[in-house]
Amino acid sequence: MEHVRSAPSILHVDLDAFYASVEQLHKPSLRGKPVIVGGVGVRGVVSTASYEARVFGVHSALATGIARRRAPNAAYLIPRFGAYQAYSEVVMGLMHDLSPLVEPLSLDEAFLDIAHLFEPEDVATPEAGSRRAREIAGELRDRIKAATGLTASVGAASSKLVAKIASDAEKPDGLVVVRPGAEQEWLDPLPVRALWGVGPATAERLRKIGATTVAELRTLSRQELVAVLGASYGASLYAIARGMDDRDVSPDRELKSVSVEDTFAEDLLDPATVAAEMDRLVNRLGSRLRKAGRSGRTISIKVRGHDFTTVSRSETAVGPTDDPVVIRAAAHRMLPGAVAAATQAVPGVRLLGVGVSSLAEWAQLDLFAEAEAEAEAEMLDEDDLDPRLWSDDGEGGEGSEEGEAHNAGDADDAHNAGDADGAAVAEELPLDPAHIATPVHTVEGERSPRQFGPLPPGTRGAVESARADRRFLPGQDVEHDEHGPGWVQGSGLGRVTVRFESPWSGPGRIKTLRAEDEALRLVDSAVVARDALERAAAREAPS
Ligand SMILES: [Mg+2]
Repeated sequence: MEHVRSAPSILHVDLDAFYASVEQLHKPSLRGKPVIVGGVGVRGVVSTASYEARVFGVHSALATGIARRRAPNAAYLIPRFGAYQAYSEVVMGLMHDLSPLVEPLSLDEAFLDIAHLFEPEDVATPEAGSRRAREIAGELRDRIKAATGLTASVGAASSKLVAKIASDAEKPDGLVVVRPGAEQEWLDPLPVRALWGVGPATAERLRKIGATTVAELRTLSRQELVAVLGASYGASLYAIARGMDDRDVSPDRELKSVSVEDTFAEDLLDPATVAAEMDRLVNRLGSRLRKAGRSGRTISIKVRGHDFTTVSRSETAVGPTDDPVVIRAAAHRMLPGAVAAATQAVPGVRLLGVGVSSLAEWAQLDLFAEAEAEAEAEMLDEDDLDPRLWSDDGEGGEGSEEGEAHNAGDADDAHNAGDADGAAVAEELPLDPAHIATPVHTVEGERSPRQFGPLPPGTRGAVESARADRRFLPGQDVEHDEHGPGWVQGSGLGRVTVRFESPWSGPGRIKTLRAEDEALRLVDSAVVARDALERAAAREAPS
């Protein structure tokens, strides 16, 4: 095993089920219950599932429709990015207090270099180094918990690669320190799936050639891996299995993605027209990239058919590019397959898009992204699987689509919750899906996961437009003149069901109100989050 550091001085910090955990903190009645955050519409995708929901087989990137079948009684909530941003800032701040070398990968995840906190005696033996790393990581976890109420899983190791795998090893609320010199021993019994960038399809290919664990993977030669997984991924995985990773924590890493897409007034039917439109989009993307001074390694295209079947494909190049020639070549390699998949049932293309994302945008896969992009290509056919990349740059644009009914929270629970006097509780109204529209429409410019995190379709833009139109979406914060703060549990037929509770209250009561009730207002989630964080800080402050 090669490693460049003699102490486990790289931390990988990852908040547990971040979005869902913030929802449970803010909604006392949902603590300990299955909570699913994501797009709630028909084309919605799960962004985060609480651990209680994962038991039912619900996980990120799963279609919300499938999640609803698996966990019908879970609370389905739209993301409240303002709140997540506020929590993320506090957590990132605590990491910056510890080290100037913080490399955020997304809102809830970062690498930290803590080498400066090791005294000579701390690095004298691997055991002393491990003790010191455990102490520092433990204190950081305590501080995060005290300041936010959130749990973080932390991995400490001599490389980013091993630290990242270690943070995942005992999730949630885990702390794993891999002793320097023992990295290989620690990696060997792990399933290949634990390795960075190995998805289900790659794991299956490896299983077929006899490797289900890292130790078994190491018995395969570089040539064997290259033969099965391709040149770049085969070589990467050969190195990963041996823990070979000498990258530094780089705090200034750029995290942007840039994309352009057009919705056409009339469906494109002719392949030549589709190809020409793609060229036009590539040129526009190229000039945007140059203007923004950006380049990226992953090139993606998006095709939406007449019946809204949406197909995304991506390819990852060896180095970052902003060259339209390179992007065009990649786009045209992927285009025929994507068009065929999107127009299987009905001919006609209604939307085309092309985008480039940087290495860091794909932080989950990071430098081995090509691996996943190649090996998991078949999985990228899923409807809007990776909506992160897509933006609307002001031209074209899509309309809202009908969504499905949303009624967050357990229906039984709603019936049982009542006032002591019972009188103030309105009856639960049946929600007719036909009368509830959930917009599935995101409007985002260039995007940084550091800022917003992965965006499922039908979320951020939806929340903002809902506030403007006074439409109530499940999970949104509200305030009522008489009943105080609460959140939307469901809406429809001119009624809104609200659970009146707050991050600092106990579980609250449900009331159903008229949607036009002027005493009821939507509240910015960032304001609620800052209030909750200030109260937590006041509680922690020595009096
Ligand atoms: Mg996380």
